[in-house]
Amino acid sequence: MEKKLNDLIESYQEDMIADLKRLVRIPSVLDPDTAGPGAPFGQGARDVLDEVIRISEELGFEAKDYDGYAASVRYGSGGREVGMLCHADVVPVDDNWLTDPFDPVIKDGRMYGRGTVDDKGPLIAAMYAMKAIKESGLELDGHINHIIGCNEETGHECIKYYLTKEKCPDIGFSPDGSFPVIHAEKGIIRYTITHPVEQPDGTAVFVKKIAGGTVVNAVPNLAKVWLEGSKEVLQEVADSFGGEHAWEDGALVLSFTGVSAHSMQPWLGKNAILPMLAFMKDVNGLSDDVKKFFTSLDSLYADGWEGKNIGIACEDQLSGKLTMNLGVIRFENGISELKVDLRCPVHIDLEQIWKTTDINCQKYGFHPVYWQMRPPLYIPKEAPLVETLLGVYNEMTGEKAEAITIGGGTYCRDVINFVSFGPVFPYEKELAHEANEFIGIKEFIMASKLYAQALYALLRPEV
Ligand SMILES: [Zn+2]
Repeated sequence: MEKKLNDLIESYQEDMIADLKRLVRIPSVLDPDTAGPGAPFGQGARDVLDEVIRISEELGFEAKDYDGYAASVRYGSGGREVGMLCHADVVPVDDNWLTDPFDPVIKDGRMYGRGTVDDKGPLIAAMYAMKAIKESGLELDGHINHIIGCNEETGHECIKYYLTKEKCPDIGFSPDGSFPVIHAEKGIIRYTITHPVEQPDGTAVFVKKIAGGTVVNAVPNLAKVWLEGSKEVLQEVADSFGGEHAWEDGALVLSFTGVSAHSMQPWLGKNAILPMLAFMKDVNGLSDDVKKFFTSLDSLYADGWEGKNIGIACEDQLSGKLTMNLGVIRFENGISELKVDLRCPVHIDLEQIWKTTDINCQKYGFHPVYWQMRPPLYIPKEAPLVETLLGVYNEMTGEKAEAITIGGGTYCRDVINFVSFGPVFPYEKELAHEANEFIGIKEFIMASKLYAQALYALLRPEV
């Protein structure tokens, strides 16, 4: 470990905090309404990229703007190119924030604000790691390329565009995941089932609407059904339900609750849609088609998150079980729509999983269509990149951690020979995309030291 680099990072602390605040203040959420030439993701993303470029120039680097898609900040020349991949766009905010998400505040050793941990904090930590390398005067065999994208959250068009203009760095890491180092990520399939359901006139219990879940990558914690019919019949349904219900303009509204969790860890949650299917399939007075709809979905999905009923349950030694999340269900005007997210073990062929899913859904008359099929990422634990980063992490923290596998899809899938390295420490809760997102100041500085040490470890001249 180079003590000099750690000391330099310590000396930057106040500047790092100030620069992170500058970025958090810019609401760089995707905004198609203000998109245009040079600002493909809208004005917020354009503004944040300008600010990133300004900061990098203040630190003595030259930055290049790739038409508003991404920027590249470089240091050094020749030799191998070691990349760092960060992003400056953020996800939208909701009403659950206790402070203004775009006006960063420091409280109890934490900075609160949208993007503090995903991914503006790590971006600044990486930028100052480059500064420490530069000011340390350490000799390098190669150069650094810090790539900053503006569309990580909604399509990765940023890095894709960058790679049409430049070659991919030889090797690198992305400060947009977790420590110690993520060497394998499951494959991802996302599909939709759109299915018409008939309810003839005179149906005793008429399903007016269903709304369960909000996004495909979260275990839904709420599913609601709106039923219409005679007061008498509906009252019977309400009585047999026994759970939380309400009346809205004569319609009976049943609420099914669960516990939300990320779709890559469904065992931490409880899917609210599943008890809804189980209850609805036995309601008297539904049209035949609706009854079949609920019964079929119940047969396919009710057994939980492993995909056993669909026939895709599997696991491998490296990355564990396949996970399945029926994340969204909608029904209105005779058309139902479901969205499902699958995370497939690293050694499993996605095409085979898809084939089985397709065949078994069709048996029930459903026609699934996938809109995402992302192959897994896998760099062996023994690869020099993984060993080097893990070595840096363990030396700096005094831990004996091992490289980890996750179900999530990180930025690294768009590039070759990259792994995720921080910023979330193993003892921390994942706060990306949550309300009241924060980064611990101690963790922010530590991440920067780890990035500086990692850069040097990957660029140190062979002796
Ligand atoms: Zn991110």
